[in-house]
Amino acid sequence: MLSRRLNSLKAYKTETTKARIRLSSNELPYDLPEDLKTLILNELKETQLNRYPDPNSEELREVIGDFFGVSSENILLGNGSDELIYYLSIAVGDFSQGVYVPVPTFPMYEISADMLGRPKVCVQLDENFDINLEKSLELIANKSVVLAYYSYPNNPTGNLFSKEKIHRIREEGVFTVVDEAYYSYSGESFKDEALKREDTVVLRTLSKIGLAGLRVGILIGKESVVSELNKLRLPFNVTSPSQIIAKVVLSSGRDFIEESVKKVTSERERVLKELKGIKGVEVFPSRANFILFRTPFNAKAVHKGLVERDVLIRDMSYLPGLDRCLRVSIGKPEENDIFLEALEKVLVSLN
Ligand code: PMP
Repeated sequence: MLSRRLNSLKAYKTETTKARIRLSSNELPYDLPEDLKTLILNELKETQLNRYPDPNSEELREVIGDFFGVSSENILLGNGSDELIYYLSIAVGDFSQGVYVPVPTFPMYEISADMLGRPKVCVQLDENFDINLEKSLELIANKSVVLAYYSYPNNPTGNLFSKEKIHRIREEGVFTVVDEAYYSYSGESFKDEALKREDTVVLRTLSKIGLAGLRVGILIGKESVVSELNKLRLPFNVTSPSQIIAKVVLSSGRDFIEESVKKVTSERERVLKELKGIKGVEVFPSRANFILFRTPFNAKAVHKGLVERDVLIRDMSYLPGLDRCLRVSIGKPEENDIFLEALEKVLVSLN
């Protein structure tokens, strides 16, 4: 018999609508250049796919360690950071103890707690999308919270939470997970603390810097923490094609990643400015590769109007506090232009 707990769960769903201009999943808009693809193909030709992958992704952890400036002992890899979030929800405290999530945010933190039947303390962000410290501290004490997740910068609001507030909550004995999926676009990190402390880890991912198709998530922490968490890791969780491709790209494709991130970051500033210039649009500042904005109209109608113009972005209005809000990922300059023009037209048509 399947557990009755499953009745209350929903399978993870993501946007599957087709459109020519896809700005809905915060991916890098640039695919790998041909010379890198040729290098990858050559490496793959030499790979025996009848054999299991390296179970510990030794070489890839070295290369990733070098890329992010940490030692390979400080790294645990997952099948995307989603898998690492799940491991952390299993690893910290007892399942009867609470998980703190400031909301609205990336849904996997709540989903992983729900999968395990753990109590959640979800506290609405304040009007600047920062942590409501007073309310959080009160509920954390009441509900025996032992684990906290922070998206830093926060998806979908785009801002960085106050570091001091995260530290203050940690003082309550709360294990702190700082999800830096958008680190390359923000440059702000808790990495140094994660390397020193037993109660803090950082998550990164290759998904937002050009390799979403690979599913490689990265946990950075103290060696003792990483080796304990490693006991939960499923065997061979990073496939050999993923290990090989990530190794090639992070060793030979650094210029490509750096240049792409630079282009996206500068486009973010341009799109922010242009969005601000569109009548009726309220734009929120962003330190990531996406922008949250609000229009005077129903977000579903705006979303639909854009899809009819072959542009796909994300309707965020279902989240508490984000009424009439949508999130657009930063694309190539020409894609951003098409989005901006389409948005203006949609808003005029709804007026
Ligand atoms: N964390 C955050 C904050 C995200 O926005 C996302 C993807 N949208 C992820 C984690 C998932 O990353 P991955 O592809 O490595 O599972």
